[in-house]
Amino acid sequence: MKIGIIDAELVYNKKHRFPNLVSMKLSAYHKKKSDEVTLLLNYDNISDYDKVYISKVFTDTQVPERVLAFSNVEYGGTGFFYDKAPPLPYEIEHCIPDYHLYDEWVKNQLENGVTKKSLKYYTDYSIGFMTRGCIRGCNFCVNKNYKKSEKHSNTAEFLDNSRPYICLLDDNVLACSDWKNIFDELISTGKRFVFKQGIDERLLTEEKCDYLFNKIKWIGDYIFAFDNIADKDLIISKLKLIRRYTDKKIKFYVLCGYNHQNNIYDEEFWKNDIISLFERIKILIEYGCIPYVMRYEKYNSSCYKGIYINAAAWCNQPNLFKKMTFSDFCKQRGMSIKGNKIYGNDFENYIANGGKKGAAWRYLNEFTAVYLDIAEKYFCMKGEM
Ligand code: SF4
Repeated sequence: MKIGIIDAELVYNKKHRFPNLVSMKLSAYHKKKSDEVTLLLNYDNISDYDKVYISKVFTDTQVPERVLAFSNVEYGGTGFFYDKAPPLPYEIEHCIPDYHLYDEWVKNQLENGVTKKSLKYYTDYSIGFMTRGCIRGCNFCVNKNYKKSEKHSNTAEFLDNSRPYICLLDDNVLACSDWKNIFDELISTGKRFVFKQGIDERLLTEEKCDYLFNKIKWIGDYIFAFDNIADKDLIISKLKLIRRYTDKKIKFYVLCGYNHQNNIYDEEFWKNDIISLFERIKILIEYGCIPYVMRYEKYNSSCYKGIYINAAAWCNQPNLFKKMTFSDFCKQRGMSIKGNKIYGNDFENYIANGGKKGAAWRYLNEFTAVYLDIAEKYFCMKGEM
């Protein structure tokens, strides 16, 4: 059989840089059956194949509707069905991924000047899940229907010994009762690994910290999440715990624009949400951590949308975040390129010489005019104490 496999993110977003695990498993399954498998990079020749699989992770990735109507096309993934995505059949889910599916594409990328480093997940990592599921049931999350985190596979199921690193996509490994055996098994591979989706710091204990910061050979950033200001006291207690084990920079996803209590998104909510966002950023700065702002789609309807855009641009560029206050960042972002070159951080001189305030600067001013107290409390802090 001629099998075509489409990683929808790769077709839609030319800058996408993470392999699709389902596509690699489908490829492995069909190659084992001696089928001819091709990674397709567009939707042009669907009819040339006996079967075409389209896999999509993100809901905002576009796939032409007409393609989904082809009788030889099968499609799936959270990008199509979100929390209702049907699982893969057992024999496909549990086969070792075909790490060569992207070889030709990687070769072309390298020839076209893309850096080897940016393709590392295609070339250097074994990828898989040790556990599936989560205990939290957060309403905004694709995993909201899960009630627990359970063992899903052993490393043997996805480990390619020729690859130096392991990337794990588990949703909440620390919530699994078997977490210690899982870490021991990963350690026994001798490889460095990372849990890319983040770790639930609310579940940290002395023993878990000892594993995470002393025993494990981690690669890349440690990533946690601080999504809800209601967790403030718990998060601070865990930050203190973390700091007894490591002084490394730690990244925290910080969700904003989401109402954890109800579905009311009025002026009062947006004001409080911005306070919550900056209060969490402030706490993280105090403990030497780096926030990574994640905007829930509702932020688009906020009267202070520009503040969210600026906050994400500020925090998510750690080099700027460390050096500049939020206020200076907005002002500099709101200068013309020429003005920036001439005046740098000398904002007063820029304005005195006729410089115009661009959107980022205007957003800052508009918000500050209404909520001077919030601006005074938070907008003059820098990412590094
Ligand atoms: S803790 Fe994380 S993975 Fe679990 S439901 Fe909440 S957002 Fe999703």
